[in-house]
This record gives sequence, structure tokens and C-alpha cells, in this order.
Amino acid sequence: MTTRLSADSLRADVRAWVHANWDPALTLVEWRTRLLDSGWAVPSWPERWFGKGMPAWADDVVRRELAAGGAVASVPSGLAGPTILEQGPDATRERFLRPLLTGEEVWCQLFSEPSAGSDLAGLTATAVLDGDEWVVNGQKVWNTSAHHADLGMLVARTDWDAPKHQGITYFVLPMHQPGVEVRPLRQMNYHSSFNEVFLSDARIPRGWVVGEVHQGWSAALATLAHERRWGVAVTVDRHRVDDGPAARQAAAEAAETLKVYSWYPQRAGRADLTVAHAQTAGRSADPVVRQELARLHSMNKVSQWTAERAKAARALGRPPGPEGSIGKLALSLVARQAATVHSLVGGAHSMLAGTDSHAPLGGVLAEVLISVPAQSIAGGTDEIQRNILGEKALGLPKEPDPAKGLPYRDARNR
Ligand SMILES: Cc1cc2nc3c(=O)[nH]c(=O)nc-3n(C[C@H](O)[C@H](O)[C@H](O)COP(=O)(O)OP(=O)(O)OC[C@H]3O[C@@H](n4cnc5c(N)ncnc54)[C@H](O)[C@@H]3O)c2cc1C
Repeated sequence: MTTRLSADSLRADVRAWVHANWDPALTLVEWRTRLLDSGWAVPSWPERWFGKGMPAWADDVVRRELAAGGAVASVPSGLAGPTILEQGPDATRERFLRPLLTGEEVWCQLFSEPSAGSDLAGLTATAVLDGDEWVVNGQKVWNTSAHHADLGMLVARTDWDAPKHQGITYFVLPMHQPGVEVRPLRQMNYHSSFNEVFLSDARIPRGWVVGEVHQGWSAALATLAHERRWGVAVTVDRHRVDDGPAARQAAAEAAETLKVYSWYPQRAGRADLTVAHAQTAGRSADPVVRQELARLHSMNKVSQWTAERAKAARALGRPPGPEGSIGKLALSLVARQAATVHSLVGGAHSMLAGTDSHAPLGGVLAEVLISVPAQSIAGGTDEIQRNILGEKALGLPKEPDPAKGLPYRDARNR
């Protein structure tokens, strides 16, 4: 784009396009294909890859304008979209970006292993090239949505003689095959949003690689940076959409997505319910409760401003930076403080679960108390965010690594 883009002219362009093109009688895929081919699905992406080469802030403007026109929104590009766009290669972009953006292929993230979470580069799932296919063996765990995903972002070791962070390759794994077994896990809050994934001679076509073979660590870092920056919360568009096949299919798709994420608001602490909870319980005049509520309010505000700062950086097209780690830590602190306030107000009753009339807030409170710890783990723990900030933002020395430079085959047991 050589001319300077104004939000007003952009809004006018999108409005005109929606008026001419939105047709509620289309199927969801037909509509999303039309949106994609026009460049309005991801306007900030390059023209060659379904976008219009606009600044990042254009994405928000276009999304709002689509909603105002009563049209179905575009599919969020998630973690796989921006990673593949950035890391390529072109063959991978060609194959995967379109069905990702039409919602025809659903993705999951196959990073964590039973003994490689924070220390992700210590992963041991192994891929070996056999003719035109990679053969993968190993186990992944905590994989959100793996039970209904078509494709997985998989990191696996492809060279055991290279040092730890080298010799890892980032693959696209077809999930529907005999070598992939997905076993759901039951969480302590009784939801079941993630899984164990067992890989036994699972097959991947030779070219289904993100970035370069053996260089998957940098592609994995790109995914993790996006995860910190955008948060792991999933938003589903709730604006009014003109009724028709596209709207009904989009509603069914959102309902399926939300099944997995229905407890995420509780995981974030439900700060929004704290004042009403204190008032209903007759504790809003208690000086200690008031003090903790005020503390929560100020922490929440600071967290929101940090998120705004991250959003502004993104709108300016800046690469993900330390604000992702700061924002993620802030969300953890807010969630814990909200849980503290809720239990201060509710006392022992806070532990009552279920919809029983004795359970505070219809059982939501009990779900908050056992879901909040996940906020400090998902997408990289609080301690890991602090390490990142110490090393990358404050320039502190790195953690010592006795295995540095050694072939991972030897270094692993040090
Ligand atoms: C809700 C949720 C959804 C998730 N979804 C996915 C998903 O879709 N795909 C996926 O691959 N994974 C997923 N995960 C897994 C998540 O990425 C890992 O749980 C996380 O990275 C931590 O790894 P771990 O559980 O192995 O803990 P560990 O790494 O074993 O950590 C245990 C404790 O040690 C601390 N610790 C570890 N190393 C250090 C260090 N160097 N310095 C200081 N402290 C340290 C940690 O902070 C933590 O307190 C999900 C997790 C949750 C909770």
C-alpha cells in the first residue's frame, strides 16, 4: 500500500463490499471463500497470501464492519495461521492457509510431552524419514481440542546428534490416521478440554514441514510468542447475523468450539462477579473485603492497559515482544486475586459445587477456585514468563545449561 490508509475510508470500502457480497443464503464455506478471495478475511496479511497488505489495525476495523453489516465474521487465524505465514515455506502456505481460513480444517497444538513442558526443547517424540514420509513415534499431552482437530502443529526430534535446540522439526500432522490415538483427560474441574496423544508410527507427508527441517525450534518460538501475545482465551463472535445457512452453520461451529472453552472465564477468576458477590453476601461494607476489592480493581485496570499497549504494538505491525509475557503474568495475578476476593466473601461455602441453592453463584465460584491455577500454566507458566522477562527484557544472565552444544543424544542424561 503506497497511499496512507484512513479508518474512515477503510470502513466505507468494507461497508460497500459487504453490501454487494454478503448473502445469507450462502453456505458457511461459500461465504468464507468469498471473503478470503476478496482479501477482507485477513486484510493485514500480504496480498499474495489472501490479504491486502494493510496495517494490522485494519483487521479490527474490518471485523467490526462485517459485524455491523450482519455478516458472519472471518475465522480467527489462531496460532497455526500466523506461524505458517511467517515461517513458510511457500508449499506449506499453499497447502494449509486457505482451509485454515475457511474453517474447513481445525488445528491443535502438539507441543508438550510428559517430560517436556516448560523445557519444551527437551522433547523426545522422534520423526524419521522413510521414503516420502516421516514416521513419528512418541507421546504428547495437554493437547487442547486434539479430539476434534484435523491437523496438529507437531514438534519432533529429527536429529539426535545435533544440540538440544537444533535437530527439531515442526510438522503438520494429519490427525485422522491409525498411528494417532487421542485419549481425553478429565480435569479436576470436571471439564475435559485437553488430551493425551499417542503417536505410533504416525505418518506425515515429506513436505508437510513448517520452516526448515531440523530448524523447527525457531518456528516453535514464533508460535509460543503468538500464544503469549494473544492469550489462550478464545473469543466467539456474538454479533447479530442475518439468518440463513451461513449463520446457522457458524452458530453450530461456535457451539462446538465453546464446549472446550466454557470454563475459561472461570479460569480467569471472574473478577466481573466480585462486587455483586460481596453485595449479595452482605460483605461489601467489610473494610478488608473492600481493600481486597480495590486491589483487584487496580490490578485489573493495569492488566487491561497492558493488553491495550500490546494491541497498539500489534496495530503498528511490531513483532511480538515482552508485553506478551507481562500481559500473561498480569492475567495470572488478576485471576488469583479474584479467587482470593471470592473466597474471602464466600468463606467455606465457596467450595460447594453444582447448581444446588447453597452453592454461591450457582456453583460458578467453586469452578473458579479449581480452574484459576490453569491460568498460571497454559501457554507457558508464570515462572517461565519471569525467566523470559529477566533474560530478554532485563538482559539478566541466562540459566546455566550444562548440556549446551552437546549432541542431544549425550546431553539428555546430564
Ligand atoms: C489449560 C491448558 C491448556 C493447554 N493446552 C496445550 C496445548 O494445546 N498444547 C500443548 O502442547 N500444551 C498445552 N498445555 C500444556 C502447557 O503448555 C504446559 O502445561 C506448560 O508449558 C508447563 O509444562 P508442564 O505442565 O510440563 O510443567 P513443568 O514444565 O514440569 O513445570 C512444573 C513447575 O516447575 C516450574 N519450572 C519449570 N522450569 C522452570 C524454570 N526453568 N525456572 C523456574 N521454574 C520452572 C514451572 O513453572 C512449574 O511451576 C496446556 C496447559 C493448560 C493448563
